[in-house]
Amino acid sequence: MKKNKIFLFFGPPGSGKGTLSEMCVDQFGWLQLSTGNLCRQHIANGTVVGKKIQQIIASGQLVSDEIIVNMVVDWIKSQSTKPEGIVFDGYPRTLAQAQMLYDFWQKQLFEFDLVLVKLNIDRQLLFDRVTHRIVCSNKNCGRVCDVCGSALEHRPDDTQDSLKLRLKIYYQHEQEILDFYVGKGLKIHELNADQGARNLFDDFKKTVL
Ligand code: AMP
Repeated sequence: MKKNKIFLFFGPPGSGKGTLSEMCVDQFGWLQLSTGNLCRQHIANGTVVGKKIQQIIASGQLVSDEIIVNMVVDWIKSQSTKPEGIVFDGYPRTLAQAQMLYDFWQKQLFEFDLVLVKLNIDRQLLFDRVTHRIVCSNKNCGRVCDVCGSALEHRPDDTQDSLKLRLKIYYQHEQEILDFYVGKGLKIHELNADQGARNLFDDFKKTVL
């Protein structure tokens, strides 16, 4: 029997994780867990967590593992459906998060296959994309495109300085996270994210599914 799958999307900010996740949600009815969107919802709703993380996010730093792991566990517990696929977009981002997710998966989510997908992208292209990126201003939508009809806006952390820091932080953690999963016997599927969203999605369907 074909097992349900949890996809972990890796790639620097702007590599297309969010767009690819949204295409999977729209086309296959999967669920998307975007820790970035959850953080932005907390900020928009003015929660205690939102107040704590607002400055951290605007500056491009990572939110603490403790806050993120609690958000992820709450999100998983709040889901009432068990879809064929769940996309983790932007999580895990540190080794501690990767280990926590692996333990949680072994204990509670073992009926899902864990599938790792890494998006590779040229650095200059990435700068161009992120500094021109507009997203939905409705934080309960948070899409990279115009879906719910709310106004579009630039993300406050999509500045050159913040992006440079986010990239540095991303690459500091990427290898050790991937090494951790490879050490557990998991394979990494690599995709060329220089291409447009449609082609990337086609590649994903052909080579990962
Ligand atoms: P994203 O929308 O995935 O680019 O995330 C935006 C920001 O939210 C990041 O730059 C971090 O400040 C924070 N964030 C999102 N996911 C995580 C995570 N897994 N660990 C730590 N911080 C995160």
